Amino acid sequence: MRRAALQVRGVVQGVGFRPFVYRLALEEGLAGFIGNDTDGVTIEIEGPVERVEAFQARLRAEAPPLARIDSVGSREVAATGEKGFRIVASEVLGRVSTGIPADAATCPDCLRELLDPANRRYRYPFLNCTNCGPRFTITRRIPYDRPQTSMAQFKMCLACQAEYDDPLNRRFHAQPNACWECGPRVWLVGADGNTLPGVLLTSVIANSANSANPANFANPANFANPANSATSDPIDQTISLLLAGQIVAIKGIGGFHLSVDATNEAAVMRLRERKRRYGKPLAVMVRDVQAAREICALTSEEEALLMTTARPIVLARRREGCDIAESVAPGIPWLGVYLPYAPLQHLLFADTRVRALVMTSANLSEEPIAIDNDEARARLGAICDAFLMHDREILQRCDDSVMALVDGAPQLIRRARGFVPLGLELPLDSPPLLAVGGHLKNVFALAQGRHVYQSQHLGDLENLTGLEFFRESLDHLMRTFEIEPRTVVHDLHPGYLSTTWAKEWSQERGLPLIAVQHHHAHVAGCMAEHALSGPVIGLSLDGTGYGSDGKIWGGEVLIAKLDSFERFAHLEYVPMPGGEAAIKEPWRMALGALHAAGFDVESEQMLALLGADRSEARVLKRMIERQINSPMTSSLGRLFDAVASVARGRRAVDYEAQSAIELEGIAVDEPDRFEQGVYVPELHEADEGPACESVIRTGKMWNAVLEDLWRGVPASRISARFHAGIAEGFINAAANARIETSINVVALSGGCMHNRRLARLLREGLEEEGFEVFQHRSVSPGDGGLSYGQVAAAAAMLAKGS
Ligand SMILES: [Zn+2]
Ligand SMILES: [Zn+2]
Ligand SMILES: [Zn+2]
Repeated sequence: MRRAALQVRGVVQGVGFRPFVYRLALEEGLAGFIGNDTDGVTIEIEGPVERVEAFQARLRAEAPPLARIDSVGSREVAATGEKGFRIVASEVLGRVSTGIPADAATCPDCLRELLDPANRRYRYPFLNCTNCGPRFTITRRIPYDRPQTSMAQFKMCLACQAEYDDPLNRRFHAQPNACWECGPRVWLVGADGNTLPGVLLTSVIANSANSANPANFANPANFANPANSATSDPIDQTISLLLAGQIVAIKGIGGFHLSVDATNEAAVMRLRERKRRYGKPLAVMVRDVQAAREICALTSEEEALLMTTARPIVLARRREGCDIAESVAPGIPWLGVYLPYAPLQHLLFADTRVRALVMTSANLSEEPIAIDNDEARARLGAICDAFLMHDREILQRCDDSVMALVDGAPQLIRRARGFVPLGLELPLDSPPLLAVGGHLKNVFALAQGRHVYQSQHLGDLENLTGLEFFRESLDHLMRTFEIEPRTVVHDLHPGYLSTTWAKEWSQERGLPLIAVQHHHAHVAGCMAEHALSGPVIGLSLDGTGYGSDGKIWGGEVLIAKLDSFERFAHLEYVPMPGGEAAIKEPWRMALGALHAAGFDVESEQMLALLGADRSEARVLKRMIERQINSPMTSSLGRLFDAVASVARGRRAVDYEAQSAIELEGIAVDEPDRFEQGVYVPELHEADEGPACESVIRTGKMWNAVLEDLWRGVPASRISARFHAGIAEGFINAAANARIETSINVVALSGGCMHNRRLARLLREGLEEEGFEVFQHRSVSPGDGGLSYGQVAAAAAMLAKGS
């Protein structure tokens, strides 16, 4: 006989781990117990040696789908002769458990029940089990237990309670367990929150001839008479509205979605106009992988990503000629596609007439997603035609996550539902820290020890609603992980709202502040992900970030350690006439860059190229010459904007980096490399002496771009040559850095690493040169990952100082 005490670490709470271990112990005929503890679970098992060993092997091999075992500590203890196996309450182990799992998509077992007329949960929109369902978004505070969730108000019926109490049941301690008898409900109301659905439906049908796509009316008789049975079910009513081209705000897991039929051009346009969102791509939800294949050319890796329990939006190549409305993702060859992850969504797609739905975060432009029923009525009433509401409160706002396959590996573009609040690892110990992130696409991070917890995507911190969301989410995560920050980390930019907020908040608490330069934070994040202590050659290729010299950086070759960096080289500085305005109007960037390259921006030829009239060009030129509101930038993102503007003739954009994304998009079918005609920027080596940086000059590159343009070379080819040239320019800079420093490791970071062509060309080219290359994997290379890098840099600075 042998008794072993096991400490299992990882994601093992709230994911059905205890009942799994219970079953395993029974099958192996072992005695002992299991209970949650502070960091995971504690198990003791007693029985014949070979049984104990079999148990330990199966523990890892057969763990439930949502569990993630990071480590299993094992030690022998004295046998007690105990009989039987027990699940003990958390308190028995003397400590409170702290884990809240991430939200997980409906599992195959629940989906089968949902569609089985014989099951007691047939078509119940809130069914779930320990292997699936909402978690993070319905939890107020720790421990993750029903009274601390928004399910507290629903008392389980006898049948549900019996499942909840039975260790052998799939719903053992499934906190959101519910059924038709005892759980939340859905209902449909009009845009004003009151209109009777029957009246609304009648008016929809009366107007449908104009507003809807006639092809969708497979069977109009189904909803011709609102009194008929087809209209008594709120889900069926919602389907009727969607098929008639109406906009329905649908309450989901982390917030409301605005939904329309994605194959109905007029309906999509109406949504865009009402939401005041014109260019930015909208996500499309389809029934299953088969349906996703019909609209996108998916690789097997992309299919696997679609199916993960986080169910992210996956950016994939759109199929030529598919029937998704053009205005869903105008101007780019990709679609953001994803699969249903909540029973309510599965029910919409159970109707075969529903093929593809736009499902986009319910908000106005960049405001936080709406979650509360009253809030939704107030904020969305003018956008939608109806609301599909429910009475399970959403306690934490959480957008959908976005991913893409970049250079052969999954990359996070937006880390939110399904990933929050899962922790990330840090390669060094950190005191309790708060890192507030950047300005756009804000995500903050809390750190303690070797753990970093990033918040959900919070959007742009440009207004008070954004800041409110930030505070709300910070309070929640501080409570959840019991982290009281002792130091606050912020971006070097004095004008960011996040910086101002960090200063005020730390002052109130008497906490020290650490500022981390934006592009150093990007590189430090990539280093920390791969546990690199450095020094490395960091390519920080980005939109804009505040530099140590007060200029705007973003095309940087850094020699970086976690705690410090030197700037080895950067893209040549060019003016950004109008500052922020140059981000929204890329023609200004093009004018600034061409002026810097020595072209006469008032010449007829240039005016035609820029799509500008003479007086506009003159005003900008004067601004530049007199250095009025024309900050100097070395940003690669802005260089992309400028080239896109002349190559594609786009004057203004609707969202940040739109023209750069389009420029990448037009080149998808072009070859990667060229024997000649590549626009390689020239590396101008620095003179001897300290603080002398090499400059990557772009003047001759512009000559080549314009020559091609005037020769009639298509924009797609110009784009491909530009990508190849930029990659080569930075690879040359890295090679020079290696000569100077003997460093052979390159870390790639910054928002431009979302660009698949650039990421691939850089990695391939650097590897050909013999470099060891690292890219982001668990955090976003863009500003969504910034706070993780801020934590890594600050923790290293603190460790050095102490
Ligand atoms: Zn389930
Ligand atoms: Zn029930
Ligand atoms: Zn950045």
